[in-house]
Amino acid sequence: MTIVHHPSEELLLDYASGALSESWSLAVATHLALCPECRREVACMEAVGGGLLDSLTPAGCSDGTFDAVLARLADDIDEAPIAAPHEMAGPAPVLPQPLRGYIGADLDGIPWQRLGLGAYQCLVRTEDGVTARLLRIPAGRPVPEHSHRGQELTLVLRGAFSDQTGHYGAGDFQNADEHLKHQPHAMPGEDCICLAITDAPLRFRSLAARLVQPLLGI
Ligand code: ZN
Ligand code: ZN
Repeated sequence: MTIVHHPSEELLLDYASGALSESWSLAVATHLALCPECRREVACMEAVGGGLLDSLTPAGCSDGTFDAVLARLADDIDEAPIAAPHEMAGPAPVLPQPLRGYIGADLDGIPWQRLGLGAYQCLVRTEDGVTARLLRIPAGRPVPEHSHRGQELTLVLRGAFSDQTGHYGAGDFQNADEHLKHQPHAMPGEDCICLAITDAPLRFRSLAARLVQPLLGI
């Protein structure tokens, strides 16, 4: 898996410091399960946070303490083995943890709900008032063009999509906001399955999409 699009450093920092609510955390944690590069970065952030807490007590640290903590952490992190996201025998699950635990099944067992035009969704139960769902967009088909009233995080789990901001394959992460209007297009060959987190309804351009929107909760 070659991941090109990662969460922003700011989002990783919010994750590492525990500032994200459940749904956003789920998206970042699922990306981390697929992305050794971001796991390493978050491990470094968490270690720096812990080191800073340690250095706050007792008072009277020398000025060099922070640099020393960073240097030691860099050594530790270089040496620390990073666990593979799954170590079971047999075919690897497509849905990594923690997402698989939320769904209660891997890809084969997802209770898909029809959205129309060949697309499906499966709502993921979270408690923070933010909408988390799996989306399945049929191979080679577009999602209706839309803009956003808030944040939209999308993590590709299988297949791929593209829009004017680039090509997104398995493991890739897109962070869209009010400034982006796009029409993601699933690549041919394989349905695109992704985890999408939104904190406000999308703003669809087409009348048809707007008419069914309240029924579908998107
Ligand atoms: Zn990453
Ligand atoms: Zn969007």
